[in-house]
Amino acid sequence: MPPPVVWQQRWHPFREEWVLFTSHRGGRPWIGDTHKPAEQAVPSYDPTCALCPGNARLKGANPRYTGVFGFTNDLPCFSTDAPPPETGDDFYRTRPATGTAEVICYSPDHAKTFVDLTDDECRAVVDLWAARTVALGARPDVDHVLIFENKGSLVGTSNPHPHCQVYAGNLVYGFTAREVESGRRHFERTGRLLGQDVLAREAAGPRVIAENADWLACVPWFARYAYEVLVLPKRAVSSLADLTPPERASLGLMVREVATRYDNLWRLPMPYVMAVHQAPSDGKDHSSYPFHLEFHPPLRKPDTMKYLAGPEIGGGSMTNESDPEAKAAELRAVSSVHYRRP
Ligand SMILES: [Zn+2]
Repeated sequence: MPPPVVWQQRWHPFREEWVLFTSHRGGRPWIGDTHKPAEQAVPSYDPTCALCPGNARLKGANPRYTGVFGFTNDLPCFSTDAPPPETGDDFYRTRPATGTAEVICYSPDHAKTFVDLTDDECRAVVDLWAARTVALGARPDVDHVLIFENKGSLVGTSNPHPHCQVYAGNLVYGFTAREVESGRRHFERTGRLLGQDVLAREAAGPRVIAENADWLACVPWFARYAYEVLVLPKRAVSSLADLTPPERASLGLMVREVATRYDNLWRLPMPYVMAVHQAPSDGKDHSSYPFHLEFHPPLRKPDTMKYLAGPEIGGGSMTNESDPEAKAAELRAVSSVHYRRP
């Protein structure tokens, strides 16, 4: 094993910030709360679930859908009905939140998660992500399409029905705004693409956890969370809209493999926040944008949360108590076949 990564800061090239590594502190005594994710029995249909086929929602009811299913969020955070600002000036600025928000159910089966999807179902999910990116990104009131999944109660998901969300508004989300700048600056400085340079470093290193024809998954050298995983495209692309049909299919399989390796780590459904980082759809040139997917699991042990506290919330910089190389080795060592599969 390599020596522990201690008293070291690593530069995060996408976010252009330092991450502090203190892997000697990962095993410190913990007497606070523990959070073992419960493996409770979930029914395939829940009559109280707002996402199950045929059930009532706040507005209307779901059709009896049989595959992947997308609809407009009943309480969207952006709206075409956003009123003009009533207050604000050049200092306390304000603007309407225009756009929309959608929900995508991966499956009609309430009990499934991404790991349970067939190859065709995985492809259908990514195909819909790409289609919604194109359709929503074309709207004049939408500057950015953020697709994300909150999985598990530890990241605040109230409903286990397998689904993700699509936020499409006039706000370019903060990390994407930073990656627009970091990608552009890297290209101006080196003449190379930031995403391709990170790919080259990770592909050569010991932190790869999975790979297929079009995608590479790794715990990056600059990981902010213990089991953080990036899914990087092998070809330079800036958005889901750039992907070919085979690339969309292989991305679906890669998302499933990452989620499967997570679950196999402790034979428990691993909670995470997954986000698709793609270029804004604001009409500007984003050819240097480093498209990728990010997985942020909040657990650093089966029963121990990574709490964001003084350094992170109070100070604004991340501390990682582990060594990305060691964490990648753990995720690489487990099977790519889910433990619940016969
Ligand atoms: Zn449901």
